[in-house]
Amino acid sequence: MKISDTQLELIDRQVKRILKSDNYYSGVYKKAGITGINSEEDFYRIPFTDKADLRNAYPLGIQAVPDEEVVRIHSSSGTTGMPVIIPYTAKDVDDWSTMFARCYEIAGITAKDRIQITPGYGLWTAGIGFQAGCEKLGAMAIPMGPGNTEKQLQMMIDLESTVICATSSYALLLAEEINKRGLKDKIKLKKGVIGSERWSDAKRAYIARELGIELYDIYGLTEIYGPGIGINCPDQTGMHIFDDYLYIEIIDPVTGEVLPDGQEGEIVITTLVKEGAPLLRFRTHDLSHIIPGECSCGRSYPRLDTIKGRSDDMFKIHGVNMFPSQVEELLSQVDGVSSEYKIDLAHDDSKNRDIFMVTVEAEGRVDFAKTGEEIKRLFKSRLNATPKVAVVSINTLPRSEKKTKRVFDHRDE
Ligand code: ZN
Repeated sequence: MKISDTQLELIDRQVKRILKSDNYYSGVYKKAGITGINSEEDFYRIPFTDKADLRNAYPLGIQAVPDEEVVRIHSSSGTTGMPVIIPYTAKDVDDWSTMFARCYEIAGITAKDRIQITPGYGLWTAGIGFQAGCEKLGAMAIPMGPGNTEKQLQMMIDLESTVICATSSYALLLAEEINKRGLKDKIKLKKGVIGSERWSDAKRAYIARELGIELYDIYGLTEIYGPGIGINCPDQTGMHIFDDYLYIEIIDPVTGEVLPDGQEGEIVITTLVKEGAPLLRFRTHDLSHIIPGECSCGRSYPRLDTIKGRSDDMFKIHGVNMFPSQVEELLSQVDGVSSEYKIDLAHDDSKNRDIFMVTVEAEGRVDFAKTGEEIKRLFKSRLNATPKVAVVSINTLPRSEKKTKRVFDHRDE
């Protein structure tokens, strides 16, 4: 994706603002001899950055404005403990809600809609982002936060919610619950806006069918505003990303080489106007590709395909690199198997060999032993590694309201 002159100019401004701020990155850029960005070549000299830098700069080392301009912080924790703190100015908060309102509009949601928001409120960016976008749009926010399914369903019915915002896991849980209780005729939902957790086509189809709604994937991460920096349009050809606020690149996650449009790799984001914590060439570790060409909807915002997984979710077993997305795709082709699964990786010291264990759920109508054999065969032929497979009944594996952890590596325990 070529950088436009306007984008280059904005990035130049960002670099100068950072250098003046004396924050963590001003040190990095001074050391790299970066004083301004006048060309594409200059841009590519900006070093990549990622969450590890943000942890190094904890708590407020990446703040690029005086304290009196910061109106809020958000935080993301991730798996390794040390949190990351992102300061926002009033303009950052407003820009974020503008983008989020734009997401709702692209999904065909209007001021007449009633938006039930189930992502969590608090330090992380989820609930409050959905809320601010909803208010900017002028729709009615029903700020539920996560959990309490009983109450969720009651509000959904009594207030006649037309839009549900949720993680895919929680949307699935709600769909299953509505199905179980026979409430489908009582709900008025038309659309679902689903957080950027990657999900399988099977799960998507189930939720869409059971709730009778259109689904929209919203993209974002705490380090870059939060959810709401892009969404897919009704033409469902990928997520439009707002290039007046962000510049996106796709790189090879191993070599760092910038890849041409259409090629799969890691998403790298540069914030063009963020004030509180500007980030340039931030490695998201999310895997996708830029969809070349214009969307049939006529919007010119560039498009990212659905997130395929995370470069750091990749696991290695029996010498093979594997992504959870490949496992999901494979399982979605097996009759009677649900979209929930669990992978355990362990080491058998006595045989000095890794153990690869896959647990899947199957409907009672299928033969568990045969299903297990079929899955084993598929793994061997498609992914070149043969797991031990346990087939259990539907609803045996835990459902989560947040992002579900599916791969458990016990090898260095
Ligand atoms: Zn479109």
